[in-house]
Amino acid sequence: MLRTKLLQRLLILVLLLSLLLTASFPQLAEARSRELLKKDNLEFILKGVVSLYLLNRINSMLREEPAIEDAGSRVPAGPSPLAGKIIVLDPGHGGHDPGAVGARGLKEKDVNLDIARRVYRLLQENTAARVYLTRDTDRFVSLAERSSLANRLGADSFISIHINAAENGRERGIETYAHHSAGREAWALAWYLQEQLVRELGLKDRGLKAGNFHVIRETRMDSLLLEIGFISDAAEEALLARSSTRERAAQAIYAGILAYYHNR
Ligand SMILES: [Zn+2]
Repeated sequence: MLRTKLLQRLLILVLLLSLLLTASFPQLAEARSRELLKKDNLEFILKGVVSLYLLNRINSMLREEPAIEDAGSRVPAGPSPLAGKIIVLDPGHGGHDPGAVGARGLKEKDVNLDIARRVYRLLQENTAARVYLTRDTDRFVSLAERSSLANRLGADSFISIHINAAENGRERGIETYAHHSAGREAWALAWYLQEQLVRELGLKDRGLKAGNFHVIRETRMDSLLLEIGFISDAAEEALLARSSTRERAAQAIYAGILAYYHNR
């Protein structure tokens, strides 16, 4: 990108210089064309070159405008719409409840916690949101404790993090649940997170789904439940075992939260 711009500028410079040189050394230009050197023609050419240069500058300035639609990676300056917002992150399972377990022994509870902690850190370091985790260690927390914590805090968003599993072992991809009675805002948040996760991890897009899980039913705010890949699929288990994948998942969730709050 930068290199093309540099090349463009160099080309214009060379073009300008060569025309100016032709103008200042009549004997050089004479060999090419006498007609060209007539005063009127010279002025005409110079004007043309200057306008071309200006047009090019305007064009490149327009292209340097930040792409605001890509709100995931670029956030406009100014007061953050996340300031003071209460975000509750809910790593599913924990303690004696491992959640789903992969064929190679990867436990859902560990992946959930790792991703949630990474999202927590990203939000803490880069936004003025008030962020909470329903658990920050490998301990058991009941579903009722999770939802009542979010309700007590008066959270704005509740995001439950899970990894999927299928008995047939053949399912793959990412899906996001909101309660079937959820309002527009919850579905919008779900859309942003699903979109960012699919884009970042490159896994199959299983879409948004209505569900009736306790944590999205009993919480009184925009709540959703993410199922980030299938631990029952060998390839996705191997992927989720890598810390780089978990970091990318966290970055995607973070970007989705930012995009939602900046665009609503
Ligand atoms: Zn789960």
